[in-house]
Amino acid sequence: MSATEATYRNFRRASRLVGLGNREELQLITPKREIKVECTIELDTGTIGTYVGFRVQHDDARGPMKGGIRYHPAVDPDEVNALASLMTWKTAVVDLPYGGAKGGVNCDPRQLTGGETQRLTRAFVEGIHDLIGPDRDIPAPDMGTDARIMAWIVDEYAKFHGYSPGVVTGKPIELGGSLGREAATGRGVLLAMENLFAEEGKEVKDFTYAIQGFGNVGSWAARLIAESGGTVVAVSDSRGAIRNPDGLDIAALCEFVARERAVSSYPDADNFPADDLLYLDVDVLIPAALGGVLTRHNAGDVRARYIIEAANHPVTPEADEMLGERGIVILPDIYANAGGVTVSYMEWVQNIQHYRWEEERVNGELRKTMKKAFIDLKESATSHGCDLRTAAFALAISRVARATALRGIG
Ligand code: NAD
Repeated sequence: MSATEATYRNFRRASRLVGLGNREELQLITPKREIKVECTIELDTGTIGTYVGFRVQHDDARGPMKGGIRYHPAVDPDEVNALASLMTWKTAVVDLPYGGAKGGVNCDPRQLTGGETQRLTRAFVEGIHDLIGPDRDIPAPDMGTDARIMAWIVDEYAKFHGYSPGVVTGKPIELGGSLGREAATGRGVLLAMENLFAEEGKEVKDFTYAIQGFGNVGSWAARLIAESGGTVVAVSDSRGAIRNPDGLDIAALCEFVARERAVSSYPDADNFPADDLLYLDVDVLIPAALGGVLTRHNAGDVRARYIIEAANHPVTPEADEMLGERGIVILPDIYANAGGVTVSYMEWVQNIQHYRWEEERVNGELRKTMKKAFIDLKESATSHGCDLRTAAFALAISRVARATALRGIG
């Protein structure tokens, strides 16, 4: 099943619950605009490299569209489409005044030098600059992109439209980035878990964790879980996995990875095959890397009691059903990883106001937003008598449908 089909299946299950008809469904599921651009650059060797960039603008009923840009060899129109639609539902779950979009360039960022990455970024912005902007569509970092790349987007966009830092979020602090943004998705994952566990009278420190992916989201989630007293027993990245049943020293591991770029050579832990991380005997499994990692072929092997979707769409609909039948609680991506877009929103607000917030204020607002969204999510689950994923979609769809109806057709 493709990523778009999977998202559509989750959408449909919830849209029926909130009473949407076929026409409204079609209107909400169809992307507003799909952009595909050629990005040709000169490589450092003097040869030519041609890459394809995508931006899908899914929906803007509730405000300007918002979503990351991914640099990865698996970027394709289907996945960008699915991710753009997830952004529409995610911004609605946490009630931000945004719609949803997503972009990506099909490339392997590990094979590109700094100069090549910069030229590629500028070529991509040249292709899409007329269709993005602080009031239209605001990109941000995602897999394979970071604050440095956001700075090049600001600079390239400025050549066409003047200096306008609100065109992207996740920027360096010196260029209008927000304090707290780098850690925000990982912090949001922590806050989401705190809200979930509190329902059972438990805390983050009461559980053991395995985290797939040790990039921005995975490493920040690990760091904050460890600071809260939780025991992170295993982590992985694209090159390997490490474990220590007594708990990894996450602060030391983060320092090590900043230097060595890979978890697998970290000395104070055992190596094991990266794919096995999903089946470890831990309380909480946190996929924080790619989509579609839990499928009907391996969902039966999961032993965790909770799955917290830090990555986007890590669980296929078939796996979702299998895991649900086994009583495994899944905190869905459109809530669990919404901390990033929430603080991106705060960055954009600061840019528009030409004002800076203290980090404490940012983190406090994030905590409030995640709490309020969790209350809304539980209320949706109770009133519809459904699981948390369907409840999150139902909540989001009803908000987007209402805004769409209020704006009318014109
Ligand atoms: P990143 O590029 O910083 O890190 C990705 C990590 O995943 C790296 O450690 C990489 O080595 C690892 N990885 C790749 N393939 C792997 C594999 N097969 N097995 C194990 N590890 C693997 O990306 P990120 O920003 O941390 O994003 C991770 C996920 O979180 C993505 O699904 C992204 O869409 C989602 N997300 C990110 C943000 C954000 O603010 N960055 C916000 C919401 C959701």
